[in-house]
Amino acid sequence: MGMYEDIVERIGDRERVTRNETVLEQHSKGLAYHAPRKPDVVVFPNTAAEVSAVLAYANERNIPITPFGAGSSLEGHIIPVNGGITLNMTKMNRILEIRPDDFLAVVEPGVTRMQLNEALKKYGLFFPVDPGADATIGGMAATNASGTNSVKYGVMRDQVLGLEVVLADGTIVHTGGMALKSSAGYDLTGLFVGSEGTLGVFTRLIVRLQGIPEATNALKASFVSLPMAAQTAAEIMKAGVALGKIELVDEQTIEAVNRYKQTNYLVAPTLFIELSGSATSVKEGTEIVRQLCEEGQCVAFQMEDDSIARTALWEARHHAAFAIQAAYPGKALLSTDVCVPVSELAEAIRNTRQLVEEHGLTAAIFGHVGDGNYHTVLAFDPNDTEEVTRIEKIHEHIVRYALARGGTCTGEHGIGIGKRRFLYEEHGDSVMLMKGIKRLFDPNGILNPGKIFI
Ligand SMILES: Cc1cc2nc3c(=O)[nH]c(=O)nc-3n(C[C@H](O)[C@H](O)[C@H](O)COP(=O)(O)OP(=O)(O)OC[C@H]3O[C@@H](n4cnc5c(N)ncnc54)[C@H](O)[C@@H]3O)c2cc1C
Repeated sequence: MGMYEDIVERIGDRERVTRNETVLEQHSKGLAYHAPRKPDVVVFPNTAAEVSAVLAYANERNIPITPFGAGSSLEGHIIPVNGGITLNMTKMNRILEIRPDDFLAVVEPGVTRMQLNEALKKYGLFFPVDPGADATIGGMAATNASGTNSVKYGVMRDQVLGLEVVLADGTIVHTGGMALKSSAGYDLTGLFVGSEGTLGVFTRLIVRLQGIPEATNALKASFVSLPMAAQTAAEIMKAGVALGKIELVDEQTIEAVNRYKQTNYLVAPTLFIELSGSATSVKEGTEIVRQLCEEGQCVAFQMEDDSIARTALWEARHHAAFAIQAAYPGKALLSTDVCVPVSELAEAIRNTRQLVEEHGLTAAIFGHVGDGNYHTVLAFDPNDTEEVTRIEKIHEHIVRYALARGGTCTGEHGIGIGKRRFLYEEHGDSVMLMKGIKRLFDPNGILNPGKIFI
């Protein structure tokens, strides 16, 4: 029997094992510029037992396995570079338990963040990690995702309390638990989070929840220059106000958003800010933020406490990436993702803007400034080798600048294929330890090969 029939036998349902060309094609490429490659088979498991059966089979025969959530990752993570089996986890999308009094939920990996938040509304709770895409909780854990709320609530690694994981040989293990903290042994949950599908396949996650704040206020402040906006963001962080979000968007991105969302925001470097907490803390914080923005030579300041206007304002920020895509039709996009110590951010952004201008390119710059994490989105023609080389040089420069200041090559997107070379520059000797861990968990190297390490 061939691989297809073998897997059908193990899954017992032909409908959920496919070699359909369109489905293979859908699982062959990420959203960025990396070269596509089709898997041989796509499997849609329903249970941990099915995942285990497929992994045990693949491990005996050295067949590559690529876990797949919503497919929204940006560094070629889900491209099966050596073919094999793609495990699409989206049918495992049940919310198994919500424990409002414990502020936690138990979910399957294919549950998306919006699906979870919809179910949490009636409890007055929410799940805070919010990457721009409606990603799956499994995929978000695997990339240690973060988003606009991370300045207040932290990243995925701070939210995942426990995991059920299927290891390469099919063994099912459990890590962590329901306690909010633990000092028992090595933190395997923390190790699996951010492992990009290379150490195991998550089949169940215990995640932390947060109470919806009593009051929320959205503010938008435009500045004369990007460094002034970044500098003001740093001052706001220092002020200790009830900060929920603080995002920086440059003028080119505002222009793209205006075109994409039919808004008419002032085309200038802009801070999108959210204050959240008790009504008093939000009111007081708003006044402090207004003063700091004025001191930072802000040219326009707008406040939205109405929930519809607030949603529209944040939607504009969340759709920045789609707006940029729409502004460069037919072009491939590279989104850098460095994160620097917060005090270095203004100068890092200034340096990036100068670099882009020296190369005569257009780029959008926006990001989660409260964490020191910013994106430079460069549009290019992937068939123009000279342009590709130029883009790669710029990416290299931005990363090396960040590394030289104690930063990281990726604040949230992960290494995938696209940043493998930078892992060595960033972590030096400790990459050897990471490779040792990989060998221990996956001796035959079947789990998402070609990712993280060169
Ligand atoms: C418009 C846009 C905006 C974005 N904004 C942000 C942002 O602000 N912050 C941010 O962090 N990211 C952002 N991203 C990137 C992306 O949304 C995140 O990387 C997200 O975490 C990926 O989740 P996913 O479900 O799409 O996973 P996928 O892309 O399907 O997979 C990602 C990785 O997880 C692995 N994986 C998936 N499921 C499992 C599982 N069950 N077990 C083990 N491994 C698994 C895959 O093998 C792969 O390596 C953005 C993407 C887009 C398109």
